[in-house]
Amino acid sequence: MSIRFFVVMAMIGLSASVEWGYEGPHGPDHWADDFPDCASNKQSPIAIVHAETVTNSSLGLFKHSMFYSVPTTMNIINNGHSLQVNLDGAYTINDDTVLPTSYRAGQFHLHWASEGTEGGSEHYLNGKQYFAEIHIVHFQSRFAALADAVDIDQGLAVLGIFVDPTAEEDNMEFERLLIPNTTLEGQNMTYVNGFSLEVLLPHNLEYYRYEGSLTTPPCAESVVWSVLKEPIRISPAQKLRLQRGLQGHLSDGSTAYIGNNFRSIQQINNREITRAETCSSASAKAYHVVTLAVAAFFGAILRF
Ligand SMILES: [Zn+2]
Repeated sequence: MSIRFFVVMAMIGLSASVEWGYEGPHGPDHWADDFPDCASNKQSPIAIVHAETVTNSSLGLFKHSMFYSVPTTMNIINNGHSLQVNLDGAYTINDDTVLPTSYRAGQFHLHWASEGTEGGSEHYLNGKQYFAEIHIVHFQSRFAALADAVDIDQGLAVLGIFVDPTAEEDNMEFERLLIPNTTLEGQNMTYVNGFSLEVLLPHNLEYYRYEGSLTTPPCAESVVWSVLKEPIRISPAQKLRLQRGLQGHLSDGSTAYIGNNFRSIQQINNREITRAETCSSASAKAYHVVTLAVAAFFGAILRF
């Protein structure tokens, strides 16, 4: 059985209605039949290995304050392949040390593993695949809507946040996403009181940066990716509620829980993966190197 998605490209707001999913005849191996970019050479997600990334000292860090502004409208929807929150009047990030131009948040959504299965996140970090990954999708703020920026070079900037389900207590901020109003495909709810997306961020905002694509059709290679190093944490009970929280349509007309809605990792090819670190991380390493050098120096003296 395969979950069948008649996707109205809700994620990016396109009007084209094309069927795609995560398994079967319309699974990722067949996406390129209808969406040629999915077979191109700057695709996402990828496996990030810290030791193979390069420090970019001119790359600035995100600040928590950039995310404080509460969107005017927030609508949470079960779109048949994910849990998504569409934003209106959201914050804009306007700091060219962090992103190449000014970007506004348009929506965020999640990818996760089905109950009893491994995996979940789209990116890997140092060989690890987390239970889930949040994607906050931003678009160049010179455009009126997210859909207008999808085919533009660097039109989108996506922030990826890993979700680790090992917390001993519930994450009360994540709780806002685990609501009964999205049980059935198409169901949605507008929050009476919106909230700042800052509540979904970890403390440490160090990140990896590379140029890639949407991880769902049409796989447009217009994404400036930022993948946070530190995950957020939710409880195992919250993990289970997400896995049993949303239903999508099956090809036989019945329903099943949505999950395993992640794409497999793609070739990095000749792309460079850089990283932005806090001064303390960078200087801590420099300090360590100096310490080793001093130790080696005195070690050499003592041998005389
Ligand atoms: Zn995504």
